[in-house]
Amino acid sequence: MAHRPVCVGCQCEMIPAQNDIRVVSVWGKSELEEIWCADLWKCPKCQARVIVGFGASPIISATHPQYEAVKDACATHGLYVCNEER
Ligand SMILES: [Zn+2]
Repeated sequence: MAHRPVCVGCQCEMIPAQNDIRVVSVWGKSELEEIWCADLWKCPKCQARVIVGFGASPIISATHPQYEAVKDACATHGLYVCNEER
């Protein structure tokens, strides 16, 4: 059985806060953006939040002609950002 994420500071399991969120992964250049589906979890004690449970592949990449429209639609439900600068 898979463990839930654990809050290191509070030494307890986190709880699901929101399923099926949208995360924009930014790889330095805007044309390398992707939108992913994932889950948001939070610590019930300190309220720390973490994004886990990414899908196997992105919903859409910035090279797709409909990317900006899809991104705008996702933004109405709250869009999280992950900067992958390396
Ligand atoms: Zn905590």
